[in-house]
Amino acid sequence: MNVLSLTCNHCGAPLQVEEGTRYLTCRFCSSQLEVQHSENAFYTKVLQVLDQRTSEMAKDLDVIKRQNQLEQLERDWQREREDYLVRGQNGTTTIPSAAGSLIGMAIGIAIGVLWVGFTSSLEGVPGFFPFFGVLVIIAVVFGSLRNLQKSIRYREREAEYHRRRQEFEGSAGAY
Ligand SMILES: [Zn+2]
Repeated sequence: MNVLSLTCNHCGAPLQVEEGTRYLTCRFCSSQLEVQHSENAFYTKVLQVLDQRTSEMAKDLDVIKRQNQLEQLERDWQREREDYLVRGQNGTTTIPSAAGSLIGMAIGIAIGVLWVGFTSSLEGVPGFFPFFGVLVIIAVVFGSLRNLQKSIRYREREAEYHRRRQEFEGSAGAY
C-alpha cells in the first residue's frame, strides 16, 4: 500500500499515512485531521484543534471556579450574617433594625425618667433609689447605640454582599 507524506495542517508536523486513510489524529498536536486531496496533491484539513478543546475546558473550569466562588461568597455572608442577627427568647432571629434600636432607646429612657420622677416624689425612699433610673437610662442608651451601630454595619455588609453577587452575575452573563 502507498504511504502518503503529509503535513499536519495545524502544526506543520510531517505525517505518514496509508493511502485511503480518511481521518487521523496528529501525533504531535493531537488535532483531528481529515485527509483531503485536490487534483494533484494530498493535504490535511483540521477538523478539530486541541487548543480549541482546551480553551473550552478552561472556560468550563472558569465557570466552575466562578460557581465555587459564588457559593463561597454565599457561605461567608450567611456566616457573617449570623453575627449580626438579634436573637429572641424563643429562638427567633431578626435582622437588627435602626428603627427598633431607636424605639428601644426611647422606651428605655421613658421608663428611666418615670422611675426617677416616681421615686423622687415618694417620701421616705432612700436617696439612691432614683439613681437606679439613671443607671437604666445609661444602660439603655449604650445598648441601643450598640444595636444601632450593628444595624448600620449590617446594612453596609449586606449592600456589599449584594454588590459582589451582582458583579458575579454580571460577569457570568458574559458566557
Ligand atoms: Zn499537528
